[in-house]
Amino acid sequence: MKKIAVAIDGPGGAGKSTISKEIAKRLGIIYVDTGALYRTVGYYAREHGLSVNDAKVSDKITPMLDGINIEIKYVDGAQHVILNGEDLGDKIRQPDISMYASACSSVGNVRAFLLETQKKLARENSVIMDGRDIGTVILPDADVKIFLTASEQARANRRYKELVAKGSDVKYEEVLSELVERDRADSSRDVAPLKPADDAHLFDNSDYDFEQSVEYIIKVITEKTGVTEIEK
Ligand code: C5P
Repeated sequence: MKKIAVAIDGPGGAGKSTISKEIAKRLGIIYVDTGALYRTVGYYAREHGLSVNDAKVSDKITPMLDGINIEIKYVDGAQHVILNGEDLGDKIRQPDISMYASACSSVGNVRAFLLETQKKLARENSVIMDGRDIGTVILPDADVKIFLTASEQARANRRYKELVAKGSDVKYEEVLSELVERDRADSSRDVAPLKPADDAHLFDNSDYDFEQSVEYIIKVITEKTGVTEIEK
């Protein structure tokens, strides 16, 4: 199979990761969750006393980068992030880590620190990589670029259901306001803000279910690259 790179960008809750994971499986390529890298930096920063409300996040996080070594491993197709030798597992999925990740991700030094890890994965493998700046910064020459979005209500609703299914007792309003705040921060930052690449295919999946979203994107990939599903 020829090597391909698919970039999936968009705001939180649009389903980027679950959809990308399934597409990776069906096409037999690797799914790279770049949010996990920012979450790992956010996790380390929280463990080392950073406050998300700190006005000087940049000054505080930059020297901490010297203490961070991140490796990505794949076990049965699942991505594992190893921070200084420790597989963090679901620790980076704790709700407050999202805000730490977002705060750290606005710092140029953090983005530069994580750049090569992401590019290398795409140089060495066929990938579907999701994030906020994949089509604009990380893989500007990607074969396919999708900007996946959905209405705020649809996204908050999905995220809320996901959290409740995991046993969390969050309130819908909290989920909605956290999502809106994170989108605002991600879209308005100076470095690599969340925005569609000029040549991205815009896909609003508010009215699509999971399977329809997967099939829609696979169709775009097949049309652009000739690569088809190997399993369903
Ligand atoms: O995708 P996920 O919700 O795990 O990402 C967590 C945070 O990491 C995002 O809100 C964003 O601030 C940051 N991020 C980023 N660029 C990426 C991926 C994630 O800035 N490519």
